Amino acid sequence: MIDKKTHRLIRKEIYIVAVLFFGLFIAMIIYYCNYLENDSKDFIYNAYNSRFSVFSDDVVRGNIYTADGKVIAKTVYDKDDNEVRTYPDERLFCHAVGYVGQGMAGLEAQYSFDLLKSNIPLEDQINNNLSGNKSPGDSLYTTFDYDTQMAAFEGLGMFDGAVIAIEPDTGRIVAMVSKPDYDPNTISKYWDDITDSTKNKSSLLNRATLGAYPPGSTFKIVTTIAFLRANDGDDTFSYNCNGKYDVDDYTIHCSGNKKHGKEDLLKAFSNSCNSAYAYIGMELDRDKYIGTTEDLLFNKELPTLLESTKKSSFKIDSSTKDSIVAQTAIGQGNTTVSPLHMCMIASAIANDGVLMEPYLADKLVSADGQLVSQTEPVEYGQLVSKEESKLLQSYMAAVVEEGTAEKVDFGDELTVYGKTGTAEYTENKNITHSWFVGYAVDDNGNKLAIAVIMESAGYGSKYAAPLAAKVFEAYFQ
Ligand SMILES: [Zn+2]
Repeated sequence: MIDKKTHRLIRKEIYIVAVLFFGLFIAMIIYYCNYLENDSKDFIYNAYNSRFSVFSDDVVRGNIYTADGKVIAKTVYDKDDNEVRTYPDERLFCHAVGYVGQGMAGLEAQYSFDLLKSNIPLEDQINNNLSGNKSPGDSLYTTFDYDTQMAAFEGLGMFDGAVIAIEPDTGRIVAMVSKPDYDPNTISKYWDDITDSTKNKSSLLNRATLGAYPPGSTFKIVTTIAFLRANDGDDTFSYNCNGKYDVDDYTIHCSGNKKHGKEDLLKAFSNSCNSAYAYIGMELDRDKYIGTTEDLLFNKELPTLLESTKKSSFKIDSSTKDSIVAQTAIGQGNTTVSPLHMCMIASAIANDGVLMEPYLADKLVSADGQLVSQTEPVEYGQLVSKEESKLLQSYMAAVVEEGTAEKVDFGDELTVYGKTGTAEYTENKNITHSWFVGYAVDDNGNKLAIAVIMESAGYGSKYAAPLAAKVFEAYFQ
């Protein structure tokens, strides 16, 4: 028989235990919600988590889309119900979007946490979790325009090289292609082959952002700006081209040994006259020349929202041989650039000198359609002055109207500004990279800047400029 006193004591103990359990339950709920909201990032990024952020136990990795809503990376299930990351367009977006499988690369790596985070309502997440289902992760919308990317990809064809196209007034990258490429769907299967250095294909390298190319005559844009700065913005210049320029024991030839005759600066630019620009290079104060190139972001980290880019290199000093300086002024010598950097320079010129920082990731959206975060365009500032950009605009227009790109069909709808380049890169001067750097404007004032390089293709006017025309057509149609 339990007396009343003992009975009260037991009831009190049950009460305390119940309160303790209730408190514990509340604490667990708070911890769980806190985990979903905050700490899952640390967990996903924890190196001790062996599945290191490729797949999650709670969330199905979200999709990646183009700006116009085409899915370019998604998670599907194989016959054994395992999650498999797939890329419907195979190689088309490989360098930018990257892969999961052999570790991660590209946007897949940069936005892995965000893709593995679900921002559907918390109660739906809890319901999914309690019923053993995964919640759908947030989706990443890129800045890519599908048709423009396709035009760049198909236009490059079998050539190695890169194409990058940027909206000058925002910095949105609408196309970015690099070849050789790979299929991210089969990255694990062919990993040994893809990374076999003896085959020297470097298929994983994104040449658009990490390539280091001789700029060829596209560098005359830079030398022109250096000339303007040396002459307080005045472009008065006169030169009589006889087809070659001798410096020390070295001779620089104009393309095809052509004698351009009497030229002002605009003519020398639109003709891409090597002799005139070699002469300009010799006349420039070297320290100021270096200063101008560094203002234009040579030897510096490029201001972008991209994960990794390559510094362009401009190296001359007081001890550099005159013949090298003369070659440097026409984009040969030891200068190297990335297509991204040349596209940024064209983009700033198109945008009256103001550079917008290039970016690829536009926004994150939850599976139920709520905006999670949005990238705001970032203004770097004035890369070149407004006056310099106006002059360069007229020079780049002359290239298309009466210069080296005169015969390229850019269509009647667009006004195109540009500079061709034919860059030597070995002792054999007959094998050259084909360059085009410039921008197009439509009747409504919409603009697109571009840099194209086709390795070993030949003349810029014959290969890279017509490819730029195809990309413009796709973008503005
Ligand atoms: Zn000439």
